[in-house]
Amino acid sequence: FRLPDIDNEPMLNYAPGSTERRLLQEALAELRATIAANGPFDIPAVVSGQAIRSGDVAAQASPFEHKLKLCTFHNATPTTIQDAIDKALKAKPAWEAMPFNDRAAIFLKAADLLSTKYRYKMLAATMLGQGKNAWQAEIDAAAELADFWRFNCKYAADIYADQPPRNSRLTWNRVEYRALEGFVVAFSPFNFTAIGGNLASAPALMGNVVLWKPSPMSMYSNYLVYEILREAGLPEGVIQFVPGDAQLVTEHTFSHPEFAGLHFTGSTAVFKHLWRKIGENLDVYKSYPRIVGETGGKNMHFIHESADVRNAVNQTIRSAFEYNGQKCSACSRVYLPENLAEEFTTILKEEHAKLKQGPVDDFTNFTSAVINKQSYDKIKGFIDDVKTGKNPSTGILLGGNTSDEEGYFIEPTVLITKDPKSPTMINELFGPVVTIYVYPRDEFLETLKLADSTSSYALTGAIFSQDRQALITAATALRNAAGNLYINDKSTGAIVGQQPFGGGRASGTNDKAGSALNLLRWVSPRTIKETF
Ligand code: GLU
Repeated sequence: FRLPDIDNEPMLNYAPGSTERRLLQEALAELRATIAANGPFDIPAVVSGQAIRSGDVAAQASPFEHKLKLCTFHNATPTTIQDAIDKALKAKPAWEAMPFNDRAAIFLKAADLLSTKYRYKMLAATMLGQGKNAWQAEIDAAAELADFWRFNCKYAADIYADQPPRNSRLTWNRVEYRALEGFVVAFSPFNFTAIGGNLASAPALMGNVVLWKPSPMSMYSNYLVYEILREAGLPEGVIQFVPGDAQLVTEHTFSHPEFAGLHFTGSTAVFKHLWRKIGENLDVYKSYPRIVGETGGKNMHFIHESADVRNAVNQTIRSAFEYNGQKCSACSRVYLPENLAEEFTTILKEEHAKLKQGPVDDFTNFTSAVINKQSYDKIKGFIDDVKTGKNPSTGILLGGNTSDEEGYFIEPTVLITKDPKSPTMINELFGPVVTIYVYPRDEFLETLKLADSTSSYALTGAIFSQDRQALITAATALRNAAGNLYINDKSTGAIVGQQPFGGGRASGTNDKAGSALNLLRWVSPRTIKETF
């Protein structure tokens, strides 16, 4: 069977005076009031429906308001992790045997619960907990998460329907898309509530059981996602909610013979570390584990002399600074032809001056703060190196101020460099900092090659030009430099069902989140030939 066509979840616009704005403001006020009255939420590990409070607690605070603690959560102990594995494996046969329609119905229901009953609550959690403004939270915690759940069902139905096209006479060939043997581990990042939901749900939809370790910095919103799945009817044990020390979770899951796969989004360094750990244990496993990861990016906006400059500036501002630059897909280096440099920087200055920064419950703020002290220190370090002359080829064009008094605020910052291989052209900062390199206009191809070779990542990229031949030249030269290439558009904002998302090189395994390619990694097909 096939599911009917699925539409993207329509996004609300939160215009001043709109009902949705009022409802969201009420949800924000209610969340703050509840925390003020009762203290932070207390989030347990959940193993097969049982809440486990280890007493080993950590907290999630708001990035833009140190005083606002959203939740404390209980890290899982080794016994809890072991128990989670055992019970997940017990839950697996019934889950895998459940007809696909029924499995799918759970995720479709979760999407509907999210987009109706829980929309504003989820947005408020993502705004206060992760520092997204209303529109960024809507894109993530309402639209993208609902889209992941719905489109995955559609893609999965297509996968199951895909059968060998030939039967010889007196035979019937068929393929069963079995779940993997064992359990899957999902490690999710703070920057998209939706990614957490997807990393745990995609393998589960295909009949797998999953241990989900969410990021400590998005614990509250991720716990709400988990509660929605349970309310939608996800059988207990299919996804075990396991907050915990990454090292510990890794140690106790990767050493298990039934470890069947890792679904990861996070940093390149951590992903490589996990891959090595898995490699060390290869002899322990029943099967070769599936390793699916989306990691960092150092994404370019490459501007050709024929570009519409205003569009290029606007897209760059959005890509570099929306959600404080904390998207793997964010633009962090710009290649600008010298003949457009003046016009580009003039418009950039005008637009930059309009960017307001502050707490997200003030809807006029475009950006807020970066996620935590570690991130703040890292980004500030790169900016300070420019200020103090430690990075002498680079100067500050706009912004550059920082303050961690109330929250971890880094002003949207534009650097300009003479050295295309300077530190901020190469390293992922994961914050609101973009570096411009001005290239000689007659060195378009050379600069494309330089851009291709400058950074080890290959997640997203954008080219801006009104000249078809230049677009062809750029797309060809950057063939392996981005898994998602945008033409005359920003490098962020992939939409599920429209632009499957992921990249290669150090940016990941490019299994395209929210696509059939991703779901296929969570099945181990069995071919059956029957002779009559
Ligand atoms: N899919 C998001 C985008 O296209 C980025 C996801 C990420 O940061 O990992 O902007």
